[in-house]
Amino acid sequence: MQGIGVSPGIAIGEALVLKDVPSVLPERSRLTAGEENERLSRSLSSARRQLEKIRAGAEARLGNKAQILDAQILITEDEELLSLVREKLKEGLTAEAALRDGVEYYANLLENMDNEYLRERAADIRDTGRRIIRDLMGVAETDLTHLGTPCIIVAHDLTPSDTATMAPEHVLGFITDVGGRTSHSAIMARTLEIPAIVGTVQGTELIRTGDSLILDGNSGEVIVNPEPDVLGTYREKQRAQAERKEKLQALKGQPTVTHDGRKVIVAANIGTPKDCEGALRNGAEGVGLFRTEFLYLNREDLPGEEEQFQAYKEVLEAMAPREVVIRTLDVGGDKELPYLGLAKESNPFLGYRAIRVCLDRPEMFKTQLRALLRASVYGKLGIMFPMISSLEEVRRAKGMLAQVREELVSEGVAVSEEVEVGIMIEIPAAAVMSDVLAREVDFFSIGTNDLIQYTTAVDRLNGKIASLYTPYHPAVLRLVRQVIENGHKFGIWVGMCGEAAGDQALIPLLLGMGLDEFSMSAISVLESRELLGRLNYAEAQARVTEVLALGTAAEIEETLQILRISEEV
Ligand code: PEP
Ligand code: MG
Repeated sequence: MQGIGVSPGIAIGEALVLKDVPSVLPERSRLTAGEENERLSRSLSSARRQLEKIRAGAEARLGNKAQILDAQILITEDEELLSLVREKLKEGLTAEAALRDGVEYYANLLENMDNEYLRERAADIRDTGRRIIRDLMGVAETDLTHLGTPCIIVAHDLTPSDTATMAPEHVLGFITDVGGRTSHSAIMARTLEIPAIVGTVQGTELIRTGDSLILDGNSGEVIVNPEPDVLGTYREKQRAQAERKEKLQALKGQPTVTHDGRKVIVAANIGTPKDCEGALRNGAEGVGLFRTEFLYLNREDLPGEEEQFQAYKEVLEAMAPREVVIRTLDVGGDKELPYLGLAKESNPFLGYRAIRVCLDRPEMFKTQLRALLRASVYGKLGIMFPMISSLEEVRRAKGMLAQVREELVSEGVAVSEEVEVGIMIEIPAAAVMSDVLAREVDFFSIGTNDLIQYTTAVDRLNGKIASLYTPYHPAVLRLVRQVIENGHKFGIWVGMCGEAAGDQALIPLLLGMGLDEFSMSAISVLESRELLGRLNYAEAQARVTEVLALGTAAEIEETLQILRISEEV
């Protein structure tokens, strides 16, 4: 089976196929009410055991989500609900259908209450109901926090929060039917160093739980129930990759300098303080993007100032004296925070997202800015605003930052004078205006993941048009060159934190354009540093005009592949 390889490495193991509860349930039972009642009791106990197990492992990881689990455990014992369900069994319904009806009855009652707390409990009842129905139907559940034996997850889709809870010691790799290379699930997989393939279309149809699988995250190939000789070949490949990784370790601790002496920075993108370990282990010379929204996911309310301060301080201290660029909240798009109560939008990537939400909710934004500035004395901090589309937004965000700084200083709190303030260039409007924006900030970081989708009108999550989603599109690359030139004209440094920064074929071109900092998934850092060390800056510069004169993405990609081989010293 072929998909899009989005996180490199080879995984070999057993499949665990996650399926949703089917929308059509069996209705009329051929069993007696007593037999259905026994099925129900078994699944109630099983669901309770699952919840207790998650509850036990959840304290440290999920914080106050543990309380929700308590509420759900109580639902499995709720006499009012269960007697209604048992009545329905007597009418000849299956346990699945009876439970669904009972759950809906109580969920609707709760939803119509005045009390917000009770209204929210409707979701708990439905969630618990789904868990019990899943058990009745023998469908594995999607909670990835407590998997037993290590396995390869096969799912229709995974949300960024699903992926964030995966533990590499339990999840050998994952395969999804849908998705694109820069979906946040894919990005998380690279951060966690879990091999992954998306867009297999039929993975969940054709693979069964327990099948033996080989997943090649580089090529996007999935092999189901392989013959022993194929398995042997892949085990050998796995060993060779581990060996190469080991060899690259020698580059750690040295600067990244091209063959003719141009120094650049190769940094890592992270999502949580824990990821610093992987960044340092993989030789990152800084953090070019800390996606702070992962602090806000998988919880029930906003993280407070103190909690954020601790997280930022931890990252700054771990990485010091290297620079850490922390991006302010970029919620929206494919990263939902249910507790913010944001309305569903038909175009979430063009909607109420990132800086737009922050400027609209100053209290929430200021909490983050306070935490950032308080942490600034613990290392070298850059603060970066996402999704900038206009000069007004930059000025408003900077205005709020200045105000927060003043407040902290008047409270006697120490704040570093060295904090750099930058913006992401990920919307074409910002790229076009980059000469104007460069006068307002200390650095730019080019976010190609979004810049590609907004420049070419290709949804980054839509597997169906994945072939149109390419960093080699000449329009995207011309914008990138323009941004770097404008940045340098006004004396600021320009980095790139979109996935294109770690693309081995693009690196020579980006180097030639003058990119100062390349920030990528930690696993690509050492490969990229090794490549940059072999390249010649003057030669790369001389090639830029020729490559950008090409008219199609395919021509550019092909030319870069050829240059990649010939240009290396
Ligand atoms: C980008 O858009 O390139 C980027 C780095 O931000 P994100 O992937 O989080 O949208
Ligand atoms: Mg972005």
